[in-house]
Amino acid sequence: MKTVTLRNGVTVPALGMGTWNVGDSAARHTHEVESLRKGLEAGLRVIDTAEMYGNGRSEKLVGEAISDVRDDVYLVSKVVPSNASYDGVRKACRRSLKHLDTDWLDLYLLHWRGGTPLEETIRAFEDLKDDGLIRGWGVSNFDVDDMEEVESLSGNCLVNQVLYNLEHRGTEFDLLDHDLSTDTVTMAYSPLGQGGALLEHPALKDVASRHETSLGPADPAQIALAWVLRRPNVMAIPKAGSPKHVAGNLASLEISLTDADLKTLDSAFPPPKRKVSLAMI
Ligand code: NDP
Repeated sequence: MKTVTLRNGVTVPALGMGTWNVGDSAARHTHEVESLRKGLEAGLRVIDTAEMYGNGRSEKLVGEAISDVRDDVYLVSKVVPSNASYDGVRKACRRSLKHLDTDWLDLYLLHWRGGTPLEETIRAFEDLKDDGLIRGWGVSNFDVDDMEEVESLSGNCLVNQVLYNLEHRGTEFDLLDHDLSTDTVTMAYSPLGQGGALLEHPALKDVASRHETSLGPADPAQIALAWVLRRPNVMAIPKAGSPKHVAGNLASLEISLTDADLKTLDSAFPPPKRKVSLAMI
């Protein structure tokens, strides 16, 4: 399985699992827990959640899914900017730990940049690390100038989680290389374009028709993931609400895109020629 190694020496699989909108529906609850369990059993260790997702409902469902396998999970949660003050971060972290029914987070991210000085948020992250409540920290939705500011304050930022998929390639102009040059892992969110029009695009269907996986003919979702994961230092956290989708996403790891595939995808989704402001959802 492709892996990425974080600045603190920890190596994790490059394919993880997102959990936005997970835990919101009683009807989907069992399937969602089963999906995370299936992914974990297959070796997908990284689970991404956030205090914001369903006001803690996502964290609670994740806590339920990992309760007996906590040590095998690389658990990521995020603090919203309105809680990013020194005291706010420390309170929010304890609340997330309670929801997740665990004693520590492997990675704690600032969800996006708000008005609190970064220095204050980073000081809170570092103190949480000293207290053993988190093992590392990072940021999300940070563009190059924000990352430069982070790096001027600390050399400990492990991850920048950003929107990256075929429909949103702006980060290829500068941010992905910048993160690579500073040893910061890029965690691609919404790698499947949120399951929307991207997965219906003829170019993805065309490339999918050229590949097979152990599950059978490849599909557009697998091509979209293989495309994100082709880059070094980039991991992806698709959200899958069914064990079938988790299995499909896992099989994307079997696909190596050829130069011809990449050309087809570049024609349909041209790479950026100039700086584009960082897109976010
Ligand atoms: P994704 O791009 O991961 O798409 C999720 C959608 O794709 C769901 O509708 C899902 O359907 C569908 N899907 C999953 N697997 C397959 C498959 N194999 N075949 C077909 N469809 C599939 O969107 P998200 O926005 O959820 O992004 C992923 C994660 O990134 C989030 O869950 C969250 O953890 C994180 N995130 C972070 C943000 C940030 O600001 N830091 C912002 C947005 C997301 P189904 O549920 O039926 O399986």
